[in-house]
Amino acid sequence: MKQRLLSIGECMVELTDLTLMSQNKGFSLNKGFAGDTFNMAFYARLALPQDWAVDYYTALGTDALSAEMRDFMAHHNIGTSYILEREGSLPGLYLVHVHEGERSFSYWRSQSAARQLASEPAHLKQALDDASVVIFSGITVAILPPQDRAPFLAAVREVKNSGREVVFDPNIRLRLWDDLDQARVLLTQAAQCATLIMPSFEDEALCFGDSNPAQTIARYRALGLDHIVVKQGAEGITLLRAGETHFLPASPVAHVVDTTSAGDSFNGTYLARLLAGDDPLTAARFAADVASFVIGQKGAIVAHPLKPF
Ligand code: ADP
Repeated sequence: MKQRLLSIGECMVELTDLTLMSQNKGFSLNKGFAGDTFNMAFYARLALPQDWAVDYYTALGTDALSAEMRDFMAHHNIGTSYILEREGSLPGLYLVHVHEGERSFSYWRSQSAARQLASEPAHLKQALDDASVVIFSGITVAILPPQDRAPFLAAVREVKNSGREVVFDPNIRLRLWDDLDQARVLLTQAAQCATLIMPSFEDEALCFGDSNPAQTIARYRALGLDHIVVKQGAEGITLLRAGETHFLPASPVAHVVDTTSAGDSFNGTYLARLLAGDDPLTAARFAADVASFVIGQKGAIVAHPLKPF
């Protein structure tokens, strides 16, 4: 049977306001689709051998935008057959404002269809049972209604208990949580469902008060994790694997255009290369090269020309 990577979360409609960029008198928007766990699936797909299937799990509506999003995924060779359909719900949306090179974001996601992704436990279980490897993030958990969070985490935990790989990026967005305590408790529970955790040091410092990456590693290690990649932006990463810690510098970037998706492209590529048989440092070096290419381009989804084979 084909090996299958399943990524779970929310993909949104991304609208970029081109009005100021193009000095247009009228209004002009560019439409795309993106979201952390979808971006990871996209980059994993690019770096995985073809004997792997990559599927996305979310909930969408039955509207035209939801249909376009599915087509977009399928076009990039990402399976959509597990996606739940919720009549009357719509995908979440965000608008990227670009002003004098600075990007800022406005979100409309509080009613998005993706919030219902764990509303059919039997369907979720089937998708998880069919997966060889699962990806989820702190955003995946944060967007769920409170009553769906524990059952969702229990279902993911089953994947770990069965000996399969579960990858978790806490991707901490404090505005999606009620308060800091809630974020800390749930992100810690989510981390315990994973076999590989890929946090951003900047986020962890804000949420958990870590003063350096070694503290982040020690905290997750104390929860039983032995595969940890702490991302440190332009500095690089600190990696713990098989009891050994390594620091790997970022790959140089001639001109940083847009850092959106740096972490997602790193995560997806790192995981893909591990699954293809690379050792962690080789996989991390390749992932750093991909991330540096991605941040030299505009947008979250960038088809890069780098080939691992
Ligand atoms: P996240 O988006 O999750 O916060 P980071 O910003 O830490 O992730 O970036 C992930 C990876 O992307 C880094 O480890 C590095 O390889 C690369 N990267 C990010 N920012 C830069 C930069 N300014 N220059 C070079 N590489 C970068």
